[in-house]
Amino acid sequence: MSDTSDLSFADLNLPEPLLAALSAVGYETPSPIQAATIPMLMQGKDVVGMAQTGTGKTAAFAIPLLASIDLKKRKPQALVLCPTRELAIQVAEAFQSYASQMKGFHVLPLYGGQDMRTQLRALQRTVHVIVATPGRLIDHIQRRSIDLSELDSLVLDEADEMLRMGFIDDVETILQATPDDRRVALFSATMPAPIRRVAEKYLNNPEEIRIETAVTTNENIEQFYWLVSGTNKLDALTRILEVEDFDGMIIFVRTKTATVELADKLNARGFSAAPLNGDMNQQLRVRTVDQLKGGQLDIVIATDVAARGLDVERISHVMNFDIPYDDEAYVHRIGRTGRAGRSGKAILFVAPRERRLLRSIEKTTRQKIEPMSLPSRADLIDKRSQDFKAQVVDALANQEERAFFQNIVTEICHDNEASAEEVATALVYLLQQKRPLMPPPEKFNKPKQDRFDDRDRGDRRDRKDRGERVHNSKDERKGKNKKGRKNETGVPMESFKIHVGHKDEVTPREIVGAIANEAGIEGKHIGQIKIRDSFTIVDLPAGMPKEVFQTLKKTRVCQKPLNIERDEFDSNRAEAKEFDGRPPKKKDKKVRKANKKKDKR
Ligand code: AMP
Repeated sequence: MSDTSDLSFADLNLPEPLLAALSAVGYETPSPIQAATIPMLMQGKDVVGMAQTGTGKTAAFAIPLLASIDLKKRKPQALVLCPTRELAIQVAEAFQSYASQMKGFHVLPLYGGQDMRTQLRALQRTVHVIVATPGRLIDHIQRRSIDLSELDSLVLDEADEMLRMGFIDDVETILQATPDDRRVALFSATMPAPIRRVAEKYLNNPEEIRIETAVTTNENIEQFYWLVSGTNKLDALTRILEVEDFDGMIIFVRTKTATVELADKLNARGFSAAPLNGDMNQQLRVRTVDQLKGGQLDIVIATDVAARGLDVERISHVMNFDIPYDDEAYVHRIGRTGRAGRSGKAILFVAPRERRLLRSIEKTTRQKIEPMSLPSRADLIDKRSQDFKAQVVDALANQEERAFFQNIVTEICHDNEASAEEVATALVYLLQQKRPLMPPPEKFNKPKQDRFDDRDRGDRRDRKDRGERVHNSKDERKGKNKKGRKNETGVPMESFKIHVGHKDEVTPREIVGAIANEAGIEGKHIGQIKIRDSFTIVDLPAGMPKEVFQTLKKTRVCQKPLNIERDEFDSNRAEAKEFDGRPPKKKDKKVRKANKKKDKR
């Protein structure tokens, strides 16, 4: 393949709404498979792409297909065949996001197991793109419920998987049922003979696109991968950051948006990190790199493009938070460490569905990447204790005003008949409270003590969750309300339940961040946060407007929608009043009535 490294999406003659959507999803430059495929498909050529999941192949066909959609036509113009329902949904979602600026665009996923009547109804409306599994599509062809006469593009996605799953005959039937002059793109990670035969028989003089890479890696870089499972990637990263001894670190993500989001999240967890992406002006980029070089900054979150050519000797670690598109990008990334004869370490996060990319990287680099497990709680305790001891030893040598402090210890010993060792033990206990040397087992990945208190009446809820009988207080049984709870600024508060909890490893910081950003509620107005196993109770200003409530229902934290609801156990709701940012004046009857109505909603 020719060198496409400097190509931008704007160079690909894409219509403005597509460029705007790509920028909105945060893609900086086309991945190699995109740079090679998009121009071919835009010219109407047939294409055979040797590409697997993770290379950006979905956008490689979705973007040129969308570029030629005529929104005025009602019948399907493009069809994508996928081996599984999951992939069909995923591909349909990708189309939807790239078409976000194309008003009136409709994509329809069709797969087995979904209600046939719903599909039949949907097929009667305008549909521009269909993403289907072969079996279900054949059903529709046989029922004549689908009209493929206007189809001008067909994509066979993961063709080798469709072969493996026994769909090859269905695929051929579908190819025969589509107009002869449609363009066809066939994507496959491997090229077994039956797939090659399909390509030869049905594709018209296809361009074969294969991203060849001849690359070598530096031998003084140790390489590891962690198979993403159980813990989410952010928590896994946090744990690694706490335990690994690193000098400078560069963390690679895929999008510009992700550089900023991840930097924010790490900063909120007590690490100092900065983004580095192509949207930042030159001056800011240079400043960030200088800070990394000078040691004022230890962690930089970058996209491939922004980090190209970065030469900072003190980068001891490269984290591949998102797997790169291809083997070559991986080699470029890890080459940011192990510079000037130093040794380096590279860690790669691999989701189960990205395993093939891992194997491919190993094959290309002819190096084995070793599996690693996440640091355990014991590792964390050990690391925190070592750091703590080192600080004490440092203070032993460099302490100022020693006599004054020693005097305090002597007095405590004397007044309490305690030994110096006992006093020292108490001091260690006090000092570590903000960052416990022994983090609680269920939260051991948190680098900082939470700002919010987690004690309360909530164990009653937990018992109720577990199906145990719980007795309410006398007043609650009689339906009386306790005196209204207010925050320090005098604003009446109401309790809400959100559906993330300890099992999602959520932190109060993440909850505050999401609520503050999405609902525009200032942090100071967010009250107690009580995290339970499967949910959290959070106190917010009473009388939340409906629109804010709806926004918060959909807001996601730890990749889960909050699904916020009023807390059924809250005894404070009669106090609710539409919150206007000012302390309340007087309770009034109308408000109570309004709240009763709200209860029924
Ligand atoms: P795919 O290989 O199509 O499954 O894509 C893998 C991931 O890469 C998806 O999360 C895409 O959103 C992302 N992706 C695709 N193209 C780009 C791009 N040009 N820049 C950044 N991320 C991309």
